[in-house]
Amino acid sequence: MDLRDYIRDVPDFPEPGIVFKDITPLLGDVRAFDYTISHLVDHYKDVDFDVIVPIESRGFLFGAPLARELGKSIVPVRKPGKLPAETHSTDYTLEYGTNTMEIHVDGVDHGQKVLIMDDLLATGGTLAATARLVEMSGGAVADLAVIIELSFLEGRKNLEGYSIYSMIQY
Ligand code: AMP
Repeated sequence: MDLRDYIRDVPDFPEPGIVFKDITPLLGDVRAFDYTISHLVDHYKDVDFDVIVPIESRGFLFGAPLARELGKSIVPVRKPGKLPAETHSTDYTLEYGTNTMEIHVDGVDHGQKVLIMDDLLATGGTLAATARLVEMSGGAVADLAVIIELSFLEGRKNLEGYSIYSMIQY
């Protein structure tokens, strides 16, 4: 199955000049979603890690079923003000302006090995910020996983030292 058939390009969203990679056709097709999760299960079933940290919000859609299949726990990373208990917080730069991400301070235990999951790698800022949150918590990043990598943006350059797995590349 070629997952590209289930990713829709939406030009000029959320702002002019951005081509948004829309995963809703993939989510809306039972076979394509099952293929995606099964592929990730195969890829990660023999990898040594303890926890999946999915990134709000599209990372949740893939991280949660993967955690369920592999028997791992979930520690969500969320946008500011969403997590109710005490958090670690980190700011990072976007193409325009800055963003903040948070994780519960008691989410990842010291020494736990963490798989970070998001839908898409663009400039790498979001994954780098999430890796920082995991490390602030005393965890170790085992791997970074995305469905889609926009290789032309060279996000890997902002993630040196981390192992990254992407299912499809543009
Ligand atoms: P970045 O921090 O630049 O790697 O951006 C990654 C985050 O922004 C991910 O959570 C994506 O969901 C979202 N994102 C960035 N660019 C796009 C795009 N072209 N299409 C869809 N999502 C995007």
